[in-house]
Amino acid sequence: MTFTLPDLEQIYMQGISPELAKEVMQLDETTFFAQVLPVTKALRERAFGNEISFCSIVNAKSGACIEDCSFCAQSNSYKAAPSPVYPLMSAEKMLAKAKEAESFGGTEFSIVASGRGMNKTKELDTMVDAITQIREQTDLETCASLGLMEREDLKRLKDAGMINYHHNIETAKSYFPKIVTSHTWEEEVKTVSTAKELGFQICCGGIMGMGESLEQRVEFTYQLKDIGPDSIPINFLNPRPGTPLADKHDLTPLDCLKIIAILRLAMPKVEIFVCGGREINLKDFQKFMYDAGASGTMLGNYLTTAGQAPQNDLALIEELGLTPVAPHRKVGKGSQNSEAIDG
Ligand code: SF4
Repeated sequence: MTFTLPDLEQIYMQGISPELAKEVMQLDETTFFAQVLPVTKALRERAFGNEISFCSIVNAKSGACIEDCSFCAQSNSYKAAPSPVYPLMSAEKMLAKAKEAESFGGTEFSIVASGRGMNKTKELDTMVDAITQIREQTDLETCASLGLMEREDLKRLKDAGMINYHHNIETAKSYFPKIVTSHTWEEEVKTVSTAKELGFQICCGGIMGMGESLEQRVEFTYQLKDIGPDSIPINFLNPRPGTPLADKHDLTPLDCLKIIAILRLAMPKVEIFVCGGREINLKDFQKFMYDAGASGTMLGNYLTTAGQAPQNDLALIEELGLTPVAPHRKVGKGSQNSEAIDG
């Protein structure tokens, strides 16, 4: 197969087609490293220069979820899955976690709660209080991931000063019913669209390696492109004991780099955060994830699994000559005609 990418300028302005993305997914390792990685690295540099964003999360409410997401250790549907169970933390405790994340070098702090959505009164009041305190007492950007949300509840968070809302679509629309049956892909998209309409910066991604096909990885990428998020958190399945996906080990390190690469090639100016499962799936290829197009990563622990020490991530980006910054930057920070491109 002869494989050629369009020139950098054309990709930067338009992204590549789904057909070309499918070709990227099928490349052998040598061709991928020789022909794709230099392009994805250049695109990331064109959009963000040498800057890499870090975000951190706190699992503010854990377990006991009535939904049945097959990858999730917090679902009540999978009794064998060991996962901590506790109600929503106090606003003060969330503030303490935010300060800790800031001391590790985190620039964005995301509050994540298990469950279908927030209890409208007490839980939402606590969230509004936490967001207000974190914004007043730290320099962190605040973000929350609270499940399916109604417009009026999102509006309260917006009025409290939160600027980012995170909600994943999880996987391709065509594969979603194999992963979740207790709610629909369309409900996920509706929450994201409502948050976008309210003026939130949108962080929306999913989890790869759940049994989807290569075509469905491409489908997922272009469905995200249609949604138009400001940043994409991409996770690679870290199978949780007791869940239906406990034995799923589909991804090679090269697969992970290709997933990051097609996201960057499809959406050259969007932040791409590589999050959960990167250590076990990318393994030694973690050092290539920024060349593949990642512009950020998550520091510290994930929701129900431990991440590597923040110092390791900071050491790697220093070794690569990169600089940590706050997420949700204006694109066009690269050195090559960035003003012209940005304008
Ligand atoms: S992903 Fe969220 S909604 Fe789905 S089971 Fe886990 S906590 Fe519940």
